[in-house]
Amino acid sequence: MQSPNFESFIFSNGSISACYWNTTLGVPCQQGSVPTIGVDARSVGDIQAAVNFAVKHDLRLSVKNTGHDYLGRSTARGSFMIWTHYLKNITYNSSFVPEGAPSTEIYNAITLEAGVQWHEAYDAVQAQGRVLVGGLSAGGSVGSAGGWLLGGGHSAISPQHGLGVDNVIELNVVTSTGEYLTVNLHKHSDLFWALRGGGGGTYGVVTSVTYRTHPSVPLTAIFFAANSTNNSTFKTFFTEFVRIHPNLPDEGFSGYSLVAPNGIQCFYIAPNVTQAQANKTFDSFAFAQNLTSEGLSISTALTVPYPSFYSWYTSLFSTGQQVGTITDMASRLISRDTVEQNPQGIANAVLSMGAASWDFVAGGAVSKVAHDSTGLNPAWRKALVHVVWGIGWDEGTPTSEIKKLRAKLAQSLTDVNRLTGSSAYFNEASMFEPSPKYTFFGDHYDRLKAIKNAYDPTGLFVVKEGVGSDDWDKSLNCRI
Ligand SMILES: Cc1cc2nc3c(=O)[nH]c(=O)nc-3n(C[C@H](O)[C@H](O)[C@H](O)COP(=O)(O)OP(=O)(O)OC[C@H]3O[C@@H](n4cnc5c(N)ncnc54)[C@H](O)[C@@H]3O)c2cc1C
Repeated sequence: MQSPNFESFIFSNGSISACYWNTTLGVPCQQGSVPTIGVDARSVGDIQAAVNFAVKHDLRLSVKNTGHDYLGRSTARGSFMIWTHYLKNITYNSSFVPEGAPSTEIYNAITLEAGVQWHEAYDAVQAQGRVLVGGLSAGGSVGSAGGWLLGGGHSAISPQHGLGVDNVIELNVVTSTGEYLTVNLHKHSDLFWALRGGGGGTYGVVTSVTYRTHPSVPLTAIFFAANSTNNSTFKTFFTEFVRIHPNLPDEGFSGYSLVAPNGIQCFYIAPNVTQAQANKTFDSFAFAQNLTSEGLSISTALTVPYPSFYSWYTSLFSTGQQVGTITDMASRLISRDTVEQNPQGIANAVLSMGAASWDFVAGGAVSKVAHDSTGLNPAWRKALVHVVWGIGWDEGTPTSEIKKLRAKLAQSLTDVNRLTGSSAYFNEASMFEPSPKYTFFGDHYDRLKAIKNAYDPTGLFVVKEGVGSDDWDKSLNCRI
């Protein structure tokens, strides 16, 4: 797992079973929550055989692609794992017609097998002079056809082209009966609806995904960094920063900011926007210049033209990796209305989180997709920003300390709910949401559950806070 905390297991008496990376702690290596055995799947047939085996022997199943899940959903203590990492085929087709569709329904598309990661997918579309809506991480390591998509899939270019779920044309999936189905708007459209946002590890094992591609266009990148030792100045700055956001999607801006109580680093992009146009929009950051006399220090404020999304992505994200950091996350989707009505309240709340990622990946095209066209949490359609924060600790930290940190994180969620409501992104969120059905799926939950029950009546696929998990005890091993 990317976050080693999901490889350890905390018993109810507080003792921990783990195999720590830090061997100087002298703790003997134990199995923790790492699956006991699994299948390194290399074909659809391998996945069908593994699913049939799990059903026959009534095994707890985990489906793992990259192991990046921030809630540890791709592992389970004592489970039998299906590992999709080596399903790496990529097929580009400039005139893809979905199965069962009229021959006039043609897409410029790319089909990615379940183990393809974003760096591989981006390389493949770049070779065709095209662009994909995809995730961003150091080294492009997030899976392009697994949990990212099934939970929603946000991208720096989502405000221009929608989320991952808005760009998928067809999926292939092995269900709990071992059947191999092609699902799209014309075949098994109910399952297609649910797979677009209803969560990874819940409906079956997806073996491949076909996405529409977009023409590659130049973009202008916006880099901005500022800090202040004067709390009140930084609060004023950040309140103004929040206030200008509702207009930015219309100007073609999107991207990410890392926010700390006294500083910010902002990486925005404006695809298909010239540097001259971007500079004009950037003028709306003038409030920052005005605050320099009050102690705001601006270390970076520049726009840079790039020939393509790919060149921007490779210059910032092509190297590095993030494995090995213990992370417990919390997040909220913040609606455009809330940002417009209460920029100061939002600014204060974000600054109180310690360090937060202000993911400006919604609004624009994301808001234009009809609320019911996919199974995704409808809150995404009203959202402008996805804010993420969290906690970490060192290996070997006693359970009592971990509990205290988790209680603080839970309190921060309760505090922010008053301002933002409790909707959140399924893939980057807290493991301890009090109302996960509403938080992750809103009013889509009942329909999602009915579809799950139709395709997975025995509940083979079950993950933390996922659709149908309410039928199981906390361990997800026993039905209640
Ligand atoms: C460094 C980093 C950067 C990130 N950046 C982004 C981002 O830019 N945008 C964004 O939206 N999210 C981002 N995320 C969150 C990401 O969407 C989730 O971590 C997601 O769960 C990763 O999916 P995966 O398949 O790679 O990982 P895994 O941990 O292997 O799987 C995640 C979940 O999906 C299920 N699953 C995996 N493969 C399949 C399959 N083939 N069929 C059915 N179920 C499957 C698993 O059972 C598990 O429940 C990021 C995460 C990290 C760690």
